[in-house]
Amino acid sequence: VKREGRNDLRFFTAEMQQRSARNLQLVSALRQALERGQMQVHYQPQFSQQGGRIVGAEALLRWHSPELGQVSPAEFIPAAEDSGLILPIGAWVLRQAARQARLWIDAGLAPLVMAVNLSAVQFRQADLPRLVTQILDEEGLPAEYLELELTEGVAMHDPQGAIAMMNSLHERGVRMSIDDFGTGYSSLSHLKKFKVYKLKIDQSFVRDICTDPEDKAIVGAIIQMARSLGLLTIAEGVETAGQLEFLREQGCDEMQGYYFSKPLPAAQFEQFARARQ
Ligand code: C2E
Ligand code: CA
Ligand code: CA
Ligand code: CA
Repeated sequence: VKREGRNDLRFFTAEMQQRSARNLQLVSALRQALERGQMQVHYQPQFSQQGGRIVGAEALLRWHSPELGQVSPAEFIPAAEDSGLILPIGAWVLRQAARQARLWIDAGLAPLVMAVNLSAVQFRQADLPRLVTQILDEEGLPAEYLELELTEGVAMHDPQGAIAMMNSLHERGVRMSIDDFGTGYSSLSHLKKFKVYKLKIDQSFVRDICTDPEDKAIVGAIIQMARSLGLLTIAEGVETAGQLEFLREQGCDEMQGYYFSKPLPAAQFEQFARARQ
């Protein structure tokens, strides 16, 4: 028994060592990713309720490392957050997205709101409002074309600080939405004080919407609640016509998902949008 225990322990530490070795490798590769031009931003269209009109785009980061191959943001974003690299990377995404939105306005695409994911680490930086304003000024994008997607987690440790930060961004004209809504712990009393204009219904609720009565009820309730608070709703992860139909019936304002389009490189997004204008 004793021996087995020791073997277990050895196995466990070997696995942990492997994991932290991977993490070190990831962070050291990440450090150079921006300057070496390995990062790209893709854009996923967001549609109005009827599904015909593109009203927005979500900027999603892509990283191809020569050593590690294509790395998913689900893996490298947490490593970037732990190492602090999310600050330069996040600022870069914001600038790319703002620049692209401006280019599309100049190219005559119908106006769309550019949604950018914001890490809780970025959200805790006191100079965030100044940084955002500076990037918008330099890229020539009016603030109302930018939306910052925050997760419920940003407010968890310091709701008062989060409310102050949202007020400051709001004063500068930037829109904010709550991403992955329903998976976090934000209380309704906080939600009322948040300067957000839209809730993004998490894809985990959308997935089984056609078959699971509980998910139906949850999504229906979120949409009702949002409406009574004067907030818009967008559903993410919409993959089928059936999901779309249910969401329309419930009065969900906007949709996003593979049913319409995957996230696309900028040039392809532009083609896609032109074909629908
Ligand atoms: P998220 O913000 O919840 O983004 C939605 C994810 O769902 C994206 O994955 C998107 O490609 C994927 N998706 C879109 N439509 C569908 C669909 O119909 N079905 C399914 N199954 N998936 C769909 P992605 O691009 O791999 O990003 C994963 C997460 O990484 C994002 O989740 C976000 O939390 C984070 N992330 C991505 N880019 C950035 C960024 O620039 N900054 C920060 N802080 N986080 C980012
Ligand atoms: Ca998002
Ligand atoms: Ca999401
Ligand atoms: Ca998510």
